[in-house]
Amino acid sequence: MKNRLVVGNWKMNGSLELINTMLPEMTSQRAQCTAAVCVPSVYLARAAQVLADSELLVGAQDVSLAQRGAYTGEVSASMLSELDCRFAIVGHSERRTRHGETDEVIAEKALRCLEAGIRPIICVGESQQQRDIGRTAQVIGQQLDIVLDRLAAEAAISLERIVVAYEPVWAIGNGRAASVEQAQDAHAYLRQRLGAKAASLRDSVPILYGGSVTKANAADLFAAPDIDGGLVGGASLSVSEFLAILHAA
Ligand code: PEP
Repeated sequence: MKNRLVVGNWKMNGSLELINTMLPEMTSQRAQCTAAVCVPSVYLARAAQVLADSELLVGAQDVSLAQRGAYTGEVSASMLSELDCRFAIVGHSERRTRHGETDEVIAEKALRCLEAGIRPIICVGESQQQRDIGRTAQVIGQQLDIVLDRLAAEAAISLERIVVAYEPVWAIGNGRAASVEQAQDAHAYLRQRLGAKAASLRDSVPILYGGSVTKANAADLFAAPDIDGGLVGGASLSVSEFLAILHAA
C-alpha cells in the first residue's frame, strides 16, 4: 500500500486562536498517512509548539529565493527549518499569477528548501484556457522540467526529497475538482516526466492532487494509481473535513 501524503494549505486564513484550538483537534485521530498543515508564516513557531508531540507536521506556504540579506518581508529556508518546518509549498498558482513568480524563481526556491532540509512541494498546473487548447501536458511538463533541471545541476542535492503537486488552476478554490480521469492522466504524465530524469524519481517522488479536494471526492481521487495524496486548501480549514480526507488517504 502506498504511503500517502496529505498537506493542508491554510493560505492567508486562520488566527492564533485557530492555531491553538484547531490544530490539537486535527491530531485527535491517528492518521494512517503522512499529514502536514501549511499555516501562515507568522503562526509557524506557535504551530510547531502546538504540534510538537503529534504526528501532524508543519509546513510553510512559501520561502524566499535568497539565503539571507536585504529582502524586506521575506523568510528564508534556514529560518523555516529552525521552526521545524518539514515542507514548503513553492510555485502555487496564486504566487505565479499574483506575484509574478517564474519557473526559474520557483526552481531557486525549491533549491533553497532542499539545502535547508525542507521538502519543497512544487506546484504545477495549467489554466482553463491552456487545457481548452490541448496544452496541459506541455505546460505542466515544462513547469516541472525547469525545476528538475535546476536541481539536478546541484551535485549535493537529493532530488528524491521533492514533492510534486498537480494543481489545475481551473479547479482551485471553486468546488470544481478535476475528474479522477483528468487528474490521473496528468499525474501519469508527470510520473513519466520524472522517470525520464531518473527511475528513482519516478518511484519515490509523491505526486499530490490539489484543486477542490473534499471529503466527498478524496477517496476516489486517492484510489487512482498515480495520485499519492492531496494538497488541500479550503477543506483544510475544517477539522471534520480535513480528518475525513486524512481518513480517505
Ligand atoms: C490550493 O490552494 O492549493 C487548493 C488546492 O485549494 P482548494 O483545495 O481550496 O481548491
